[in-house]
Amino acid sequence: MATSTETVKISHPIPQEVSRVTETLRKAGFEAYLVGGCVRDILQEINPKDWDITTNAKPEEIQALFEETFYENDYGTVGIVTETEDETLKVIEVTPYRTEGAYTDKRRPDSVSFHAKLEDDLKRRDFTINAIAYDESKGHLTDLFDGLKDIKDKVLRTVGNAQERFDEDALRILRAVRLATDLSFTIETETQNAVIEKAPTLKHISMERIRDEFSKMIMTKNPMVGVIMCQKLGLLKYIAPEIENGIGVEQNGDHIYTVWEHNLRALQHSADREWPLHVRLAALFHDVSKPETRRWSNEKNNWTFYGHDVVGGRVSRKTLERLKYSKKIVDVVSMLVRYHLFFSDIEKITLSAVRRIVRNVGPENVWDLMKVRACDRIGMGRPKEAPYRLRKYESMIEEAMRAPVSVGMLKIDGQKIMEVTRETPGPKLGFILHALLEEVLDDTERNSEEFLVKRTLELAKLPIEELKKLGEEGKEKKDEAEEAELSVIRKRHGVK
Ligand code: ATP
Ligand code: MG
Repeated sequence: MATSTETVKISHPIPQEVSRVTETLRKAGFEAYLVGGCVRDILQEINPKDWDITTNAKPEEIQALFEETFYENDYGTVGIVTETEDETLKVIEVTPYRTEGAYTDKRRPDSVSFHAKLEDDLKRRDFTINAIAYDESKGHLTDLFDGLKDIKDKVLRTVGNAQERFDEDALRILRAVRLATDLSFTIETETQNAVIEKAPTLKHISMERIRDEFSKMIMTKNPMVGVIMCQKLGLLKYIAPEIENGIGVEQNGDHIYTVWEHNLRALQHSADREWPLHVRLAALFHDVSKPETRRWSNEKNNWTFYGHDVVGGRVSRKTLERLKYSKKIVDVVSMLVRYHLFFSDIEKITLSAVRRIVRNVGPENVWDLMKVRACDRIGMGRPKEAPYRLRKYESMIEEAMRAPVSVGMLKIDGQKIMEVTRETPGPKLGFILHALLEEVLDDTERNSEEFLVKRTLELAKLPIEELKKLGEEGKEKKDEAEEAELSVIRKRHGVK
């Protein structure tokens, strides 16, 4: 194999604590190099997300040199806990050089050996741009696969034969698209052909690993390009096939884009605004169920999409659960999709309606719902919200948040209700509280002890069934409407 060592000047700063680790290893007589994504990034003046070090020291030898360490995985990676300049703790990963045995299951080597040279370690890495080692003490790059040239040409290319490398670990197929998206690189032709050909082998990869790469792609500056690339190269159907249903699905007058393009443009806006993962996912999924709810209306002489919010909430939940996202992400994204229409219907936005939406989505999520609305608008090709209207919505939300949105915020409690009605503890108390909350949601002025005591005395006389209905009215109305919408949709598809 050709050896290529160049002396280079890297001006990008390397954190002290990272240099300290490589220095400690070298002083103990070992080799130590920065390697992988961090070298790729500093060569482009990008701030690395993490710093990886590779060494000829064995895991036990690494551990012996540092105070606080732990084993990270089966590959001998040792995590070293260090303190950064701003005195926060940070983990630096040190991985011994290794070679890998055959990959019979397309995702993990059958064996890992630590009796290797730097050259072997670089050879097992996925892409040329990720296979450059940097010796800071000498200012030397070890670049056996022309990674530096590929960085300059902005090309992503596998180390060695692309088909074989993807057969070893199919996740590399998705990493290719994720890295190309992140760096705005093109994928070299042979590598790209192998991506297309080997796409179906993604089936063998765990959803957790797919999810992590997918999330990283969504969190880049260009997620729209990334998702389009995944679709064109045949990967998206192994990640989120539901999104593909929107391809070519035309919409009505307000919408100049197909459902697919609209979802993507909404996603891109969330990235342009640097919003967090859950908002980005909600933007991508917000209209996911328009294709299956689309109906032609003769009356309107147009397409309608009734229930796409309700169905979309369920579909996105299922999709994200399949991708093994955390319960927190699944809950919040599906909820944002479920309620995404709220802020788009201007007539609906009254103060009491805003109070109810705050109750439904929770005060902690209502601002994210506004963000999804912004993505929806921009994704339609509409101009940004006029500043006046935006301020108006914001002030309504703030006002609505001051109102009680749960029984706990009422100016009366179970104790007081028992006192004035002489009721004993039981379900009736809860029904009264919920009935009172419904009234207060209509008009917050009613949240005074005087009014609530008066109403309690009236309510307590009602038969329990009626009381229960009053309390659950808001919630029930919502559920009924959802069920009605769903049954229409199910009927049309001939399913129950
Ligand atoms: P990021 O900037 O997101 O951290 P990265 O390239 O550093 O990107 P990591 O997952 O941190 O990605 O991996 C570190 C390095 O390990 C890579 O640069 C690459 O050299 C190697 N690597 C990671 N995953 C694989 C894989 N599936 N197959 C081969 N090499 C891999
Ligand atoms: Mg990395």
